[in-house]
Amino acid sequence: MGKIPFPLPSCDQPATGRIEIYTPVDGDAFGSLDASVYACTSHETDVIAAAWTVNLTAYRIEMLPGINRTCSEFYAYLTGNFGGAR
Ligand SMILES: [Zn+2]
Repeated sequence: MGKIPFPLPSCDQPATGRIEIYTPVDGDAFGSLDASVYACTSHETDVIAAAWTVNLTAYRIEMLPGINRTCSEFYAYLTGNFGGAR
């Protein structure tokens, strides 16, 4: 399943945004899309700040219509740096 290399909020509110987490590669801040983290309104900035703290790039995008997620839910891409498929 992988894990996210920074603290996530403990929160059970409905997510209002999806934050894509990228690992920079060769100076490209969006080098590798490694995870998506869902967050509620009050935690979006926390997640983004936590990602930047460990030198990852965080980019917020809108939730897709009809998708319901809880704040702090995440998905680590198996092929990414957090996926554990190495
Ligand atoms: Zn929250």
